[in-house]
Amino acid sequence: MKNSLMFGLILGAVFSCQPPTESTESSQAQPKPLNFVIIFCDDLGYGDLSSFGNPVIQTPNLDHMALGGQKWTQFYVADPVCTPSRSALMTGRYPIRTGMTSKKRAVLFPDSGSGLSPDEITIAEVLKQKDYATAHIGKWHLGHLPQFLPTSQGFDSYYGIPYSNDMNAEQGYGKIYHEQRTTLDFYPDFEKYQVPLMENDQIVEQPADQNSITKRYTQRAVQYIKDNQDNPFFLYLAHSMPHIPLFASQEFRGTSKRSLYGDVIQEIDWSVGEILRTLRILDLDEHTIVMFSSDNGPWLSFETHGGSAGPLRAGKGTTFEGGQRVPTIFWGPSNVEPGLVNELGSTLDIINTFAALAETNVPNDRKMDGYDLSPVLKGDAASPRKDFFYWAFAELHAVRSGPWKLHVQQREPVHYGNIAEMEGPELYHLEADISEKYDVYDVQPEVVGKLESLMANHLEDVKGSTPDQLELRISK
Ligand code: MG
Repeated sequence: MKNSLMFGLILGAVFSCQPPTESTESSQAQPKPLNFVIIFCDDLGYGDLSSFGNPVIQTPNLDHMALGGQKWTQFYVADPVCTPSRSALMTGRYPIRTGMTSKKRAVLFPDSGSGLSPDEITIAEVLKQKDYATAHIGKWHLGHLPQFLPTSQGFDSYYGIPYSNDMNAEQGYGKIYHEQRTTLDFYPDFEKYQVPLMENDQIVEQPADQNSITKRYTQRAVQYIKDNQDNPFFLYLAHSMPHIPLFASQEFRGTSKRSLYGDVIQEIDWSVGEILRTLRILDLDEHTIVMFSSDNGPWLSFETHGGSAGPLRAGKGTTFEGGQRVPTIFWGPSNVEPGLVNELGSTLDIINTFAALAETNVPNDRKMDGYDLSPVLKGDAASPRKDFFYWAFAELHAVRSGPWKLHVQQREPVHYGNIAEMEGPELYHLEADISEKYDVYDVQPEVVGKLESLMANHLEDVKGSTPDQLELRISK
């Protein structure tokens, strides 16, 4: 308690002040603070859930969550690969501002000596101002060295594989896996990947037995909710799946018509069901908001071992819609007005949204890129987000404003494949043309001009807030 109070005082210096509380409120019973749960998948595509149109993968728990909550159809991650995307979720800042992106390396690797700067303020640190208990379970991928781990970034505890589950592969096994990408009955060997399973800052298992990883993350998450039922908590559950290599518990193997990939998604769906059920049993459902999403689009070059972007163009590693638009659901009986939200939102907005719902503040000493979506969750207002900038590999590729998307460049990402070439800038009306099929650049010069100036202004805006050692932070 003493530590968290001191922590709050230190953090208080960089947060704006709360508006004064009405004196009449102080005598009334305070409503119970909301709990927050983020369930984040790795490389889950826009078209991988039955509620988002998948015809063969069965996700009844997520369907139920979408039906009783809000299904967001135009929700974006700030970058189409893991590390930068996750940094934006945690901080509400484009990765170019935090140095969690690079032209040289897409993401952090086991030989990386860096990670998310401890000077950045995470969602967990924002909620600590209100004495929330905080836990991260699953994939972190913002630095595996002690000073960058969740336990150094506002989380009370950590349990999980700290980076991608395909790292530390035995020589040649990555290639073998890739060669098996169309083999429906291929099942990988977890011992070929020397990835660690960590508890706080200690390795407790290596190689991590990934066969049971989804199940074990889930058991931990359920136990955490039970242990914290009497106090406000923030649980960030980031599944290592369905990033390749794919693993599912024995009881889920062979359950899906969509081969191993479908089995993996159906186990994640089971996991969601366990969490929602636990919240209901403990009467926490009316005091908790659960968000479900993905860190980037499907890894299409792994073919049947990768996911589907549904109607969207391309996938992971690209700034086409398939790379950055992710299936997103918010759920919270009494706190989230059920419905379909066909408006813009982003993982960049979560820190502002949770801060508002927890009646606390985000940092005011740095540029933030998020909006408070809480009025949308409550059904009171349209989304305040009208623009979105598509960054990848420390380059600005595209901008969206309202329904329009101007795409000025694309980089062929190594190992991501299946990229449609761009011959020049392209303009799409995404509401009329979700698949980015009909380029109207030549016939909409006024729209192009408006979007070009948005990009120019944004580039000017980030200039002053980019770390000097941008390449160093994510590189070796
Ligand atoms: Mg990913």
